[in-house]
Amino acid sequence: MILRAAPTGGTAVAGVIGDPVAHSLSPALHNAAFDATGLDWTYLAFPVTAGRGGEAVAAMKTLGVRGLSVTMPHKEAVAEAADEITPAARALGVANCLVLGDDGNVTAHNTDGAGFVRGFEAWSGSQLLGMRVAVLGAGGAARAVIDACARAGASEVRVVNRTPEKAERAAALAGDVGTIGRADQLGDVEVIVNATPIGMGDNPGLPCDPGGFTGGQFAVDLIYHPRETAWLVAAATAGARTQNGLAMLLHQAAVQFRLWTGIEPPLDAMESALPG
Ligand code: NAP
Repeated sequence: MILRAAPTGGTAVAGVIGDPVAHSLSPALHNAAFDATGLDWTYLAFPVTAGRGGEAVAAMKTLGVRGLSVTMPHKEAVAEAADEITPAARALGVANCLVLGDDGNVTAHNTDGAGFVRGFEAWSGSQLLGMRVAVLGAGGAARAVIDACARAGASEVRVVNRTPEKAERAAALAGDVGTIGRADQLGDVEVIVNATPIGMGDNPGLPCDPGGFTGGQFAVDLIYHPRETAWLVAAATAGARTQNGLAMLLHQAAVQFRLWTGIEPPLDAMESALPG
């Protein structure tokens, strides 16, 4: 590992804004990447209270902060306040990454969906192109995955959600390949993604019955606390190939690193910075 020198007047600054932000894993991930590459950058956590996301975009320009990760509750506000916005962030209406360009303009990106696709494809060795994918949930994470799977060429993106109206809106993100499905009819899809919080921390239960899963299916849980949810354990027992949410977390950060620095992210170093 190349260790960076102490910050100087020339050190580039990146960071994360949110509330709360103290427990974010992003500083560990990005500072590990700067250490590994020897780039003269540093990454900090900035607590920014609700309603001040737009001010943070302006401050980014004033202070010359080169890149920001964005978490709750600012994802919508920064998407509105940025000078430019990518198609994925515009479609979702939320951004989780800001880039300060050489022209002084701030561009809003959403790297969650790309992080999911890269994390899945790197781990599975399979392309989402032509696959049938079911997504359990229709909230922020689900919408990013639905949009990205459709952009990656999935042949069907089936949304399964408790509230039908939200399922309809989320499926619309996938255009012609977006459909609505039921949790008890998932035998014909290749990939099943849990994008609900069921199974996270103290939230008990299973987002769908994994009893019928097969060895040909991939079961991906976006949850990473715990590393292995009861749903993933049951899916593996039924023969499915299983992946937790750490891959999406890692790869969305790697996409941000590349956007800010223009260089290839040191994935191994970033992965080592994740909690064991
Ligand atoms: P969110 O916006 O609150 O959406 C949650 C979704 O889950 C909603 O569609 C909701 O259904 C559904 N849901 C919640 N409780 C349910 C229950 N008891 N029964 C059935 N459906 C239920 O949450 P989010 O931000 O999308 O996060 C979802 C999960 O993804 C969380 O576990 C989060 O930690 C994880 N996540 C992981 C990453 C990563 O990098 N790995 C990134 C982002 C999020 P309704 O529409 O009916 O309310």
